[in-house]
Amino acid sequence: MRKLLVLVLALLLFSNLSGCAEPEQIKYDRDFFAMDTYIACQVLSADEKLAVKALDAVEAAFMDIDRLTNRFEQDSEISAINQNAGIAPVKVSEDVYSMVEIALEWSDKTDGAFNILIGDVMDLWGFGSDQPAVPAEAALAEALTRTDYHKIMLDQENLTIYLPEKGMVMDLGGVAKGYATDKAVAALKEMGIENALINAGGNVYVLGSRADGTPWKVGVQDPRDPEGIKAVLQGENTAIISSGDYQRYFEADGIRYHHIIDPADGYPARASAGTTIIMKSATIADILSTSLFVKGPVEGIKLAEEFDEVDAAMIITADGKIFGTKNLNDYMAEN
Ligand code: ADP
Ligand code: MG
Repeated sequence: MRKLLVLVLALLLFSNLSGCAEPEQIKYDRDFFAMDTYIACQVLSADEKLAVKALDAVEAAFMDIDRLTNRFEQDSEISAINQNAGIAPVKVSEDVYSMVEIALEWSDKTDGAFNILIGDVMDLWGFGSDQPAVPAEAALAEALTRTDYHKIMLDQENLTIYLPEKGMVMDLGGVAKGYATDKAVAALKEMGIENALINAGGNVYVLGSRADGTPWKVGVQDPRDPEGIKAVLQGENTAIISSGDYQRYFEADGIRYHHIIDPADGYPARASAGTTIIMKSATIADILSTSLFVKGPVEGIKLAEEFDEVDAAMIITADGKIFGTKNLNDYMAEN
């Protein structure tokens, strides 16, 4: 009885609070292009000026990280690291340093399924160029000899990164969008924005809730139907990040070749068609969406269950089956 009373009081208090002439939150949105991806952002605010500033901050976060990590731009930090492979350590920003540090930590935790030295292999496939094609096996085997990420040398004191062998090519494409997302969310929180959604090509972060107080919903694309949705997930203050073989691929002789590479053999990983990770850190969710894709549905989900940081994970196979962590249902929306 007492419990009920407390509950009723709490409800009254809550309805009072929300009823007290708070100005209505309006949705402001912006789409922009960065990191080779259309990025869509929505911010809820009662203050238009603040909302515009917030959208500016989100855009700046993605532009900044893109500028630092784009290895096809000659003057990016990542290009400097690659140009100096086998020559000299390169001084980098705190952002690039911590991205590499986190990437290496999770490379070990995923037994090398995540590997930022995959750049040379990516280039052999021609992903990122106009004419991707299946490379010669010998060339792939040769490139794979330069992918031992344990050899990367980090100097925390001087903030330098060194690739000790000529021909090593670092690629932060599997982590940069997640990292930029975390930076954008931090900027929003600092400005006092409580409700927002950022979608960087399936790299989603949901902050707070929608204008009517219900949770943001995130549709997970059906890997074999560009128009179809395989599941609808919901969450609050969390990253919901997907990777798939449907985002960047070409077909040759009826085989789909896509941009997530199994570092074990240099070929596009085939055990999964799509992965989605739900957890607080967008940086790590981005890393895991790529690496659990490589691991495949059985090993990938098993690994996800082992990481306390991961709230839920889902892997879709090419034949449309869904594998999920035990609590995946808690995040499934009614639709
Ligand atoms: P998207 O960028 O389309 O969201 P991902 O987050 O899965 O997809 O990242 C794929 C990118 O990650 C590739 O374009 C490449 O730059 C890089 N990459 C591919 N395979 C690996 C891997 N095994 N480990 C680390 N990075 C990878
Ligand atoms: Mg990723």
